[in-house]
Amino acid sequence: MPSLSPRTIAEAIEASRHRLRSVSRTPWLDARLLAQYVTGLDASAVVAYGETSIDARRRTRLFELVERRAGGEPVAYIIGHKSFCGLEIAVDRRALVPRPETEELVLACVDDWGGQGPAIAEIGTGSGAIACALAHLIPRAQITASDVSAETLELAAHNVTELGFSEQVTLVHGSLFMQFPDDARFDVIIANLPYVGTDNLDELQDGVRDYEPAEALMAGSDGLDVYRPLVMQAPDRLRSGGALYFECAPHNADSLRALVAAAFAHAQTEIKKDAAGLERMVISRSARTS
Ligand code: SAM
Ligand code: GLN
Repeated sequence: MPSLSPRTIAEAIEASRHRLRSVSRTPWLDARLLAQYVTGLDASAVVAYGETSIDARRRTRLFELVERRAGGEPVAYIIGHKSFCGLEIAVDRRALVPRPETEELVLACVDDWGGQGPAIAEIGTGSGAIACALAHLIPRAQITASDVSAETLELAAHNVTELGFSEQVTLVHGSLFMQFPDDARFDVIIANLPYVGTDNLDELQDGVRDYEPAEALMAGSDGLDVYRPLVMQAPDRLRSGGALYFECAPHNADSLRALVAAAFAHAQTEIKKDAAGLERMVISRSARTS
């Protein structure tokens, strides 16, 4: 429990930030998001009404949530949603919390395909964040998205429906392309599959291991156990002139690039760094052959 006894919203945010400063990398943002949640104010109102007093019930509620955050629970699970590419994606423990670096993967795809009408396959859709963001940012795209987990897919279905993308996004339950129609071919294959290797568990941020689903994160000793079969199947699924966008870990970016380059010998395959300067994406663009 924060030690200060705040009277105003701004003081309550400051007390919360102070409590979270040693347990979160983003204590101020976390404190503000939790304060927004308990007061019902949006991001600008919570600042504009900072000098307004906060009643005892809301203050107690805020400090309960701050303690959950201090225990490592992601803010997005506490408040039930996460901002992603300008959309509010509903999240809970059925799916990974969408990450800012994944927004960069989406934007790399939008840079190449925005304004066109690509057929897109998203493998491992989780909350549906990538599929919904692509539908939002590439209005003529048609997206087929799969996930191996039935309960995760229920959350994705909720997001697709609630955000109004049912005409653009089709969800498929099954591993990789397993339940896709045999003849389905795509201009884009995009994936943020599990890529944390058991040899690199120290890369996981605090709280991630305790709260987020292990099936969404872990993929064998080097983190490529799920990408390997995807890369093997991808050549049969990609149209001429198509492209792949895969998120990965810095420790396996080189290996993933080599796998993709071997499977797509005539494509341009590159590693792209994220905003933090970490090797985070493998992107492969193939030339049109006819
Ligand atoms: N795409 C979401 C995102 O970026 O926030 C979720 C990413 S999470 C790291 C990986 C997702 O892949 C999980 O939802 C997991 O259930 C799913 N997954 C794992 N193995 C899979 C497989 N063989 N086929 C399809 N989905 C799989
Ligand atoms: N970037 C996530 C993390 O480190 C991992 C996501 C994934 O395995 N695809 O928590």
